[in-house]
Amino acid sequence: MKQKIACSLLCLTLFTAVFSVVRTVGRDSAKPVFAPSSRISRTLVIDPGHGGEDGGAVSVSGVSESQVNLSIALKCDQAAGLLGVPVVLLRSEDCSLAPPEADSLREKKRGDLMRRVEVTQQTPNGWLLSIHQNKFEQPSSRGAQVFYRPSEESKGWAELVQALLREQLDPGNHRVVKEIPESIYLMSHVSCPAILVECGFLSNPEEDALLQQEDYQKKLAVLLMGGFLTQTTEEGIIPK
Ligand SMILES: [Zn+2]
Repeated sequence: MKQKIACSLLCLTLFTAVFSVVRTVGRDSAKPVFAPSSRISRTLVIDPGHGGEDGGAVSVSGVSESQVNLSIALKCDQAAGLLGVPVVLLRSEDCSLAPPEADSLREKKRGDLMRRVEVTQQTPNGWLLSIHQNKFEQPSSRGAQVFYRPSEESKGWAELVQALLREQLDPGNHRVVKEIPESIYLMSHVSCPAILVECGFLSNPEEDALLQQEDYQKKLAVLLMGGFLTQTTEEGIIPK
């Protein structure tokens, strides 16, 4: 694990550089500068949880989880683009993926999740990163937590990301990875490596404020992307 962290610190440095590139030249004109894109054969499927009528949890300051999820996901996509990591972003605006004929809220929710499964399953060599925020009745609960689809690959990826989030973002966070319950439709219907990251608690006033900060979201994106790259690098996708 220590070796992985060291490797991820390298990723972190690269990403910090990436975001300074983003700030100065913007995404469209910037080219991948660090990663040999033609050598990366896995595609990161980024799933910003909820969207449209399904806003997910509501924070103590009144912000929808779906907006926070999207904001972090877009930053992951931005960094991935600069690094040449192929990405499929399941939504890039505040919308549902349900088919237009879906009527009730229940049908829309189901249609939306089915579409997310379909796109993920159709992505060759896809790795699914689902981004969510947590909420609990006790406002004192805080700390990011990573859940994984039951598979060794997913578990290893989740452990790496959890360790990165603890060491680089919040040393007081002692949460550990957890296998995702079967009741989570998306994660139980895909067959690729998959993790779901609850980036923090919208019910904790301090964390709610952090989760809405641009810089904090960038840090999160950097760590999530660093975790993905490190995991795939170790498996020989990117030459060392
Ligand atoms: Zn959620």
